Amino acid sequence: MLTRIALYLGLLAALIAGAVAVDTHTLDPRAIIGAMRAHAQTAAPLPGENTPADASPAEGMAQPLTPVPVQEPVPAPVQQPYVIEPLTPPPAPPVVIAPKPVAPPVVVAPAPELAAPPVVVAPEPAAPVVVAPPPELSAPAPVVVSPTPLPPEKPAIAEPKNGKGPVPAKVLFSAEKLPSLGKAMAIGYYPRGCLQGGVALPVNGPTWQVMRVSRNRNWGHPSLVRFLERFAPAAAKATGWKGILVGDMAQPRGGPTPYGHRSHQTGLDVDVWFMPMPGHTLSAEEREKTSAINLVADDWKRVNPKTWTPQHAAFIKTAAEQPGVERVLVNAAIKKEMCRVDSYRKSDWMAKVRPWYAHHDHIHVRLKCPDDSPNCRGQPAVTDELDNGCSGKALDHWFSDKVLNPPKPTTPPKPPRPLTMADFPPACQTVLAAPERAQKN
Ligand SMILES: [Zn+2]
Repeated sequence: MLTRIALYLGLLAALIAGAVAVDTHTLDPRAIIGAMRAHAQTAAPLPGENTPADASPAEGMAQPLTPVPVQEPVPAPVQQPYVIEPLTPPPAPPVVIAPKPVAPPVVVAPAPELAAPPVVVAPEPAAPVVVAPPPELSAPAPVVVSPTPLPPEKPAIAEPKNGKGPVPAKVLFSAEKLPSLGKAMAIGYYPRGCLQGGVALPVNGPTWQVMRVSRNRNWGHPSLVRFLERFAPAAAKATGWKGILVGDMAQPRGGPTPYGHRSHQTGLDVDVWFMPMPGHTLSAEEREKTSAINLVADDWKRVNPKTWTPQHAAFIKTAAEQPGVERVLVNAAIKKEMCRVDSYRKSDWMAKVRPWYAHHDHIHVRLKCPDDSPNCRGQPAVTDELDNGCSGKALDHWFSDKVLNPPKPTTPPKPPRPLTMADFPPACQTVLAAPERAQKN
């Protein structure tokens, strides 16, 4: 017994010495993760509970998180059924004001799902790009610039000066290429959490293909992978499509991404494109450069009759009807269009279809917290709206001048403070430091 205690004391001393030796201000995420991993291997397993450091509201709640606008690619003309777009946006610091489209038309990426206050977005006059339609659709689909997300109203805390201060959590999480060992568990909140024991969705399935594979975001809690395996054939059946195109899920260990999303952090969110899977296996290049189809008209008040089809409504309905789904985020014009169908507006699943910024070229499906994840925080069901969100102020708001034509800010707002590990449940520190689980392919 005494020997054992002595052994533990020895380990503890070594641990403290190791921790002191780590320069927490270093900016090399690999070095930090390595040190943390070494620490984790001698330290206790996952804490039993986390402190929800996150008080951030979720989509549809009073004070949404500030947006991280992402600038996407400058599209180049294409030859094939698909639009060629520039490669994945660089993981650069968020640009607040989208550049005016000059020579080549600029396509602005979808706004973050859990972003922006109600005072937002002016649809920038789009530089329409004519796109060759996929074989399954009859008319060409103009790709339109999506609404520019509003800058944060007031950044809470300034960025660390002179590059000092803790390394942003997005740098640490995006450096991890494989999931952590450990039981699968969603930890924290959709825009402030992580994923333990994540699993990958295969990039090719009988009725799906994964897009933007280079981002390494086809990871999720097993319930998300099961959802996609169920939804893909169901959507194919409901629409007559060959299958679905799956966009971003989560990083191998979840957490914040360097660009593109505020949520997608716990392995329970997935984007699925408004576009049928083609009949062939897409090449690596096609998966990077193909663009999804915009279903909304230039004024952002209605769907675009040239691109919107009843199949898209069936696709959304099928997603919302799947068990375990908490939200299906779509552009407000799409929600409004679906509300025109009597049988839809009377159906309970319609309450899960929520209007949100962007989401004109994809749906965002968010699952409820799984039973195996006690530290996961979900969003409450939406039950207090008229006609499942089809009537009243909730929907009208999205078509008000406040949203569609807000005043332009006179000075560029400061970028929000990047999240650091102190903003996350303590269990996420353990997830980051845990040994990796090799994947079998
Ligand atoms: Zn999304």
